[in-house]
Amino acid sequence: MGEGVRYSKLLIPTLREEPGEAEVVSHRLMIRAGMIRKVAAGIYTYLPLGLRVIRKVENIVREEMNRAGAQELLMPMVQPSELWNETGRWGEYGKELLRFKDRGEREFCLGPTHEEVVTDLVRAEVKSYRQLPQILYQIQTKFRDEIRPRFGLMRGREFLMKDAYSFDRDEEGAKTSYDTMCRAYHRIFERCGLTFKPVEAESGVIGGIFSQEFMVLAETGEDSLVACHACDYAANVEKANGDSCPRGHGPLSTHRGIEVGHIFMLGTKYSRAMKAVFLDNNGKEAHPVMGCYGIGISRTAAAAIEQNHDAKGILWPLPLAPYQVHVIPVNDKSERVMITAELIYGTLSNLGLDVLIDDRSERPGVKFNDADLIGIPYQIIVGDKNLAEGRVELKDRRDGKITKVTTEEVIDLVKKLALPPPPQAES
Ligand code: ATP
Ligand code: MG
Repeated sequence: MGEGVRYSKLLIPTLREEPGEAEVVSHRLMIRAGMIRKVAAGIYTYLPLGLRVIRKVENIVREEMNRAGAQELLMPMVQPSELWNETGRWGEYGKELLRFKDRGEREFCLGPTHEEVVTDLVRAEVKSYRQLPQILYQIQTKFRDEIRPRFGLMRGREFLMKDAYSFDRDEEGAKTSYDTMCRAYHRIFERCGLTFKPVEAESGVIGGIFSQEFMVLAETGEDSLVACHACDYAANVEKANGDSCPRGHGPLSTHRGIEVGHIFMLGTKYSRAMKAVFLDNNGKEAHPVMGCYGIGISRTAAAAIEQNHDAKGILWPLPLAPYQVHVIPVNDKSERVMITAELIYGTLSNLGLDVLIDDRSERPGVKFNDADLIGIPYQIIVGDKNLAEGRVELKDRRDGKITKVTTEEVIDLVKKLALPPPPQAES
């Protein structure tokens, strides 16, 4: 359901000046638009506007995970060293794993990922092939003590991730779960309104047999990828070797991207190490075959800005925008302006749209600059001059186009443009 809110009641500390320490555009704009503030290196507070964007990403991810048959749970962020010793990763993981002791001198870490915890759960609760497959996921704060936290939410130390884990009876089942998650990822990034590409990738410290990354294409991206002109082959540069397509279809071109998701075929690496077994349909013990699937929720919000901005500020894709419509009465001293703006605001929020009304007594220039910086896709500008002709202005933030329409027309128009279409069925 939609939500209306008054600018004067929200903490939106916008900045006119460029923040000094921010090197990439998403970091700069998130600070300038009053969406995030740094608490320590790689650790941020999400302010109300920033949190709304995070929640929009989360909701899309949650809906698509549920639709794909994954079940939401929530595991602890604090994990005991015993579980990590079982897989050997307590020794392998290195300094990115933030370790500490409790008052009883027992060793713990802050979870950078949850293969150990989820495998521990499944080995205790899943005993029969009849209970498989299972796909379990959570949306949770992760901690990785990155050497060089930078670029704001793009590479934080504390960040939000969706992580899912699949458990199957055999390889074939595991492949089916992997494909189901892969399709869900396509739907997620399509629904976010982002231009992206899945690429073949290396598996890193998570390990496993095969993995793919989902890259949001942006010139400012940290990652390089190659894509074939003739077929759908694409790989990140670590994985690709040489500059021709391994499927023999011709030349590859290079692109920059941001890794927003990563899916892995794990095999039995974790279930074997942790002695997770179930009885198969012949009564024989077997290890569940696993997959794991991550999405950087907070990084996705930042990547959306890297891909969608101009000199004045953010150009939110509609599905991720903190609000869909920004109503701007230019003169708060004019009764007619305020009554009309309030009427539009009330009507649109009742229709189920997320609407922000700038009810501050600021100069028009200040309101316009803030509106362009924050980047809500549709602005409705209500001023005395146009109202004398019974009209208001509808501005499309992306192309800057302004249409003068009556107050009735603006409601219909915005309804058509901004009300989200009902989600489509699985194709
Ligand atoms: P990277 O190569 O960028 O360090 P990763 O390969 O170590 O990431 P995964 O273990 O695949 O990360 O984690 C799943 C997802 O979590 C990534 O695809 C990314 O979107 C997100 N993510 C990982 N590290 C960070 C971070 N430091 N800050 C924000 N998001 C992150
Ligand atoms: Mg990765």
